[in-house]
Amino acid sequence: MNVNQSVPPVPSFGQPQPVYPGYHQSSYGGQSGSTAPTIPYGAYNGPVPGYQQTPPQGMSRAPPSSGAPPASTAQAPCGQAAYGQFGQGDVQNGPSSTVQMQRLPGSQPFGSPLAPVGNQPAVLQPYGPPPTSAQVTAQLSGMQISGAVAPAPPSSGLGYGPPTSLASASGSFPNSGLYGSYPQGQAPPLSQAQGHPGIQTPQRSAPSQASGFTPPASGGPRLPSITGPLLPGQSFGGPSVSQPNHVSSPPPQALPPGTQMTGPLGPLPPMHSPQQPGYQPQQNGSFGPTRGPQPNYGSPYPAAPTFGSQSGPQPLPPKRLDPDAIPSPQLSELPPQQKTRHRIDPDAIPSPIQVIEDDRNNRGTEPFVTGVRGQVPPLVTTNFLVKDQGNASPRYIRCTSYNIPCTSDMAKQAQVPLAAVIKPLARLPPEEASPYVVDHGESGPLRCNRCKAYMCPFMQFIEGGRRFQCCFCSCINDVPPQYFQHLDHTGKRVDAYDRPELSLGSYEFLATVDYCKNSKFPSPPAFIFMIDVSYNAIRTGLVRLLCEELKSLLDFLPSLLDQIPEMFADTRETETVFVPVIQAGMEALKAAECAGKLFLFHTSLPIAEAPGKLKNRDDRKLINTDKEKTLFQPQTGAYQTLAKECVAQGCCVDLFLFPNQYVDVATLSVVPQLTGGSVYKYACFQVENDQERFLSDLRRDVQKVVGFDAVMRVRTSTGIRAVDFFGAFYMSNTTDVELAGLDGDKTVTVEFKHDDRLNEESGALLQCALLYTSCAGQRRLRIHNLALNCCTQLADLYRNCETDTLINYMAKFAYRGVLNSPVKAVRDTLITQCAQILACYRKNCASPSSAGQLILPECMKLLPVYLNCVLKSDVLQPGAEITTDDRAYVRQLVTSMDVAETNVFFYPRLLPLTKSPIESTTEPPAIRASEERLSNGDMYLLENGLNLFLWVGASVQQGVVQSLFSVSSFSQITSGLSVLPVLDNPLSKKVRGLIDSLRAQRSRYMKLIVVKQEDKLEMLFKHFLVEDKSLSGGASYVDFLCHMHKEIRQLLS
Ligand SMILES: [Zn+2]
Repeated sequence: MNVNQSVPPVPSFGQPQPVYPGYHQSSYGGQSGSTAPTIPYGAYNGPVPGYQQTPPQGMSRAPPSSGAPPASTAQAPCGQAAYGQFGQGDVQNGPSSTVQMQRLPGSQPFGSPLAPVGNQPAVLQPYGPPPTSAQVTAQLSGMQISGAVAPAPPSSGLGYGPPTSLASASGSFPNSGLYGSYPQGQAPPLSQAQGHPGIQTPQRSAPSQASGFTPPASGGPRLPSITGPLLPGQSFGGPSVSQPNHVSSPPPQALPPGTQMTGPLGPLPPMHSPQQPGYQPQQNGSFGPTRGPQPNYGSPYPAAPTFGSQSGPQPLPPKRLDPDAIPSPQLSELPPQQKTRHRIDPDAIPSPIQVIEDDRNNRGTEPFVTGVRGQVPPLVTTNFLVKDQGNASPRYIRCTSYNIPCTSDMAKQAQVPLAAVIKPLARLPPEEASPYVVDHGESGPLRCNRCKAYMCPFMQFIEGGRRFQCCFCSCINDVPPQYFQHLDHTGKRVDAYDRPELSLGSYEFLATVDYCKNSKFPSPPAFIFMIDVSYNAIRTGLVRLLCEELKSLLDFLPSLLDQIPEMFADTRETETVFVPVIQAGMEALKAAECAGKLFLFHTSLPIAEAPGKLKNRDDRKLINTDKEKTLFQPQTGAYQTLAKECVAQGCCVDLFLFPNQYVDVATLSVVPQLTGGSVYKYACFQVENDQERFLSDLRRDVQKVVGFDAVMRVRTSTGIRAVDFFGAFYMSNTTDVELAGLDGDKTVTVEFKHDDRLNEESGALLQCALLYTSCAGQRRLRIHNLALNCCTQLADLYRNCETDTLINYMAKFAYRGVLNSPVKAVRDTLITQCAQILACYRKNCASPSSAGQLILPECMKLLPVYLNCVLKSDVLQPGAEITTDDRAYVRQLVTSMDVAETNVFFYPRLLPLTKSPIESTTEPPAIRASEERLSNGDMYLLENGLNLFLWVGASVQQGVVQSLFSVSSFSQITSGLSVLPVLDNPLSKKVRGLIDSLRAQRSRYMKLIVVKQEDKLEMLFKHFLVEDKSLSGGASYVDFLCHMHKEIRQLLS
């Protein structure tokens, strides 16, 4: 492939688009030609091979000494456990069935020409950036919580009063639980043998097999430019990341004077600036009588909002918030009279739905062009296109703030975490180009001699082009003769737009042999499937199903797959092993001298006598005690030891669990977590109910774009430094993130701290470099660059924040915290930090106003509601029905989630089904996640990326019931149903189509659960109505907001 083939279309926007005639890409296969490592530029941070940590010579910035704790502590918080308790050669158990599959080297997709995105206006910076400090002043001034008790709202007659048997809810759910719950009495007979028979050395298969993959059922169409399956960096053409996230919001009211322009590169005034005096009522739902705090199910609900009425905004008369009436979030701790003391209209407080909708309207119509430093991107929930003009797309990097305080004092004052959520191999929508691949031949990528940063658009060429000054460390470097080019009158290289590394925010370099382990180009990675064939796995039909599926996933059909189900049909084996299985797989990769992925299918707690043997240590009595953290910690150090070996071999482990009871997910997930793998959990797996979900996940997982044997390093310009990391990876030093595997769904979150003063003029720069082996076995470097603004005014910080990213970071921080601290302490820390952030704004940025008013920064007006969702999540506030394994599972999942995923995970989407016209093909507008928004005459879909519910109101029209469920009345609908009948009518087609579309947007298949109003299962569903008080004691949104206000006032007084 030659880059000349990939001449991009003539730019339709005002800046020349790269044409790349200037450099030649040697054929991709040609890596072997690279011989003499005469490279003047060190390999990736020093020697890549073996990842020894050698400090780059002359590195100007000292390794982190003071400041944040080394990331490694974060990674292996339980590392005290005895490492190396079992020798790695201790494979006492027979090897297990092994099927290996290998990927093919193939042509690379990068650099393929892109279709021009039609008629885009020639705008450089179309975006009105971020809301000025539009204060949400009015917001809460609309709250009336003075001592006067509002009259009890009239009973709505809606028919759903308080749930009846709340107390009996626990443990009584049917098998369709959130993450699945366990049935009783399924224990199989006991016997002795081990669960993983026979491991065979993997046979390297011929390279034509990769073409045999079946496209994922729900994966959507592929990119036309994809020439073969499974190539790295390819995006499947599935649904664009369209949906799901939200972030900042459009500017409401008039801007405070002097807050708009901070300099030539500062944020521009918003283009769309809906005048929104004060916080206006939301559009979803009209405004009924003032409602009481709904949490306290004791009283009947007030009149339900009339959906669909869409009445325009009606300004509410300003009211004062009486601080004395503010309850603590734990309503249950209050004296009874206080529970009904205050009345706040939920429509008068910031609504996620409104913010999302406003951003879609304001920013979803034009592409986000990355040429301007420090621009806040549209929310993750807004569907937008990105044009790379020098900064990485928000699909790769999102920041908590795009304007960083110049000093650490300022940063400390504001308490706003400075973090970036990075998804280096993110999938892109078909309209956007995959990063171009640059080949500098034997000399390898051009780098700064001192800090080793890679050539990027921010490097400054000087002395007529003979030298360049590093934008990260200021070191002056010579330009090698073969890279020399003249400068134009502005000091820019005349070939700047011909070279991706000089004009784009994201691109790739072909790596030379110096970037390879043992100075040897890698072999293509291999896949190994390791199947548990113990009693439960056979009994549930899992083994047969899996073997059938693998036959269609692979285009060679090892007869073994036919034999396995028969071979073990009569097994009574119930004891399984775990560590030796992974060990065997890893040894197989080692023998084959390649990186790869193990797919491990496992059913039970590994209690057999072998390394990594576990005992059942689940104990719910530990909840809310100082020992609760032990539930999240691995039982033994054997798993970390194993994970470390896997990382060294580039062996990524994906774990598919099928438990009927406690399997200790906290321990079993250690290896997937540290090797960049994924964990899937199918509690009480039954082929008939769960096969679609499992097979869909498996297909998608097998076809994921993955980078293997990877190392990621984040460099920063002088003044800030990456100090902490979150995600699924391993770190053996404080700077290099080691990933046995990294797929296109996974993120690495990086926190930054100041180590010097920043400069407003020069801003701050990030460069994320990921060295990895592609699925085809090619060694590459993917580079993402991002320039941020720096400010001396706190208002600029608050005006350029992204709340969704903040929440992503704070959730990860808290979820890691539970490993070492009591859950309550973690929650308190979050609340305090949030209060400090908002108090600092109030004190320094808001215009003077009465102390009774809660004033929120425009960009952070959803911080309280979202933070409350994190606080009441299963990990931080477990309900009675959540199992220890599910908490560990969720905790582990969130660690690698991107911003869109955490957004919908913590604040689920609730979509009414019958209000929009039947012929409408677009998704119905979401409504707020609260019970009082539900009408018993309607049906709703609720999804959070993992769970999917269809809630059916008791008064839904009979015709609707018939059309959707093919039964004649509400009472005949099967509660807990997971598949809708396929019926040939518009409503059925529409609802099933919507479900398919929701599933396609998520990285995991969401199993449907039909919930009927007033049915027992409804408790499960209500758990996700996050604006309400939760059964586990979580505060309602209204109560939490009041509590937050109280905290802020205390800080200010
Ligand atoms: Zn440098």
